[in-house]
Amino acid sequence: MQRIVLATRNAHKVGELRAILAGLGVQVDLVGVTEYPDVPDVAETELSFAGNALLKATAVAEATGLPAIADDSGICVDALNGMPGIFSARWAGRHGDDAANLDLLLAQVGDVADEHRGAQFVCAAALAVPGPSGRQVVREGRIEGTLLRARRGEGGFGYDPVFLPAGSERTTAELSAEEKNAVSHRRLAFEALAPLLPV
Ligand code: IMP
Repeated sequence: MQRIVLATRNAHKVGELRAILAGLGVQVDLVGVTEYPDVPDVAETELSFAGNALLKATAVAEATGLPAIADDSGICVDALNGMPGIFSARWAGRHGDDAANLDLLLAQVGDVADEHRGAQFVCAAALAVPGPSGRQVVREGRIEGTLLRARRGEGGFGYDPVFLPAGSERTTAELSAEEKNAVSHRRLAFEALAPLLPV
């Protein structure tokens, strides 16, 4: 089976992506970059989801000599001109402080009327294949929704408790992992990337 390295040190992300790829019928040996301890951390220095995903996939492919995939994702809020966007994970200043990020976002749009509370979850999924016949491709997935005014649900992570997907009565924090994986921005991005993966 073709080995593909996922540019993350987060075991949860590896599990989630394995489930997504299995759901898409893609059979690959997906491993996290922790299997390759010499690969350096890659700073997300680009200003777009696609740019950062490509940066991570390319660095891991070059360092391991294996095909690599990476994703970069976030929430884009209409009333904030698409922010937090690529800054979603560090919106309140400290990387990965989900509670503070969510509190700050809710405060910022506290006086925005219901009809203007549109938002999207966006994910860019990149593939980098090393070597002479190498290639780099990136695909994007997004889901439309609205921002609630208070948290609802215990599942998911990040901004899930306040994101109500269009047409849904439950926030993404009220969906099971399987339900979310079936509709998520990550699922859509990797669904678009799947036909391009080396198998
Ligand atoms: P990264 O792609 O790991 O850099 O994460 C980006 C950030 O965007 C996360 O820390 C979350 O704050 C947010 N985010 C991305 N995807 C989701 C999601 O599915 N649910 C909730 N928050 C998300």
